[in-house]
Amino acid sequence: MLCEMCGKEVPQTSRVRLEHSVLSLCPDCARFGTLIDPVPAPAPAATTTAGGFRPGLVASRPTGTRRRLEERDLYQEIGELELAPDWNRRIRVAREALQWTPEVLGKKLNEKKSVVLKIESGSFRPPDALVRKLEHLLKIRLRAEPEAAGAAQG
Ligand SMILES: [Zn+2]
Repeated sequence: MLCEMCGKEVPQTSRVRLEHSVLSLCPDCARFGTLIDPVPAPAPAATTTAGGFRPGLVASRPTGTRRRLEERDLYQEIGELELAPDWNRRIRVAREALQWTPEVLGKKLNEKKSVVLKIESGSFRPPDALVRKLEHLLKIRLRAEPEAAGAAQG
């Protein structure tokens, strides 16, 4: 069998979980991952054949790269984006420039007016999805600009 990592030919590979995939690895490479217990073979009740000869048993197919279901983490990614220090002011200024009331903006965001007011006062940090919506609707940027090296002019 061939090791899926280094390609070495070994008599026996082990199933090893590495990152999010399961590989058949030689003992050398196996230590980089987590060993998985061998899959219990769906063998029927022991077939003892006279003469000690066991009919060809295909244990595993090396071609079978099994696609595992991605275990999606359920934590919500709220507040991943880094916002500009005056993000809430930018929202209010942009909204007022468009002559939208907090209510109008709220409707466009599918949020309540009170949410808009909380956002504008800075007491509620909108989740990233909302940040993007606001940026899109108001045509502004709320995210902190990545600091350009040596751009400290003025
Ligand atoms: Zn290897």
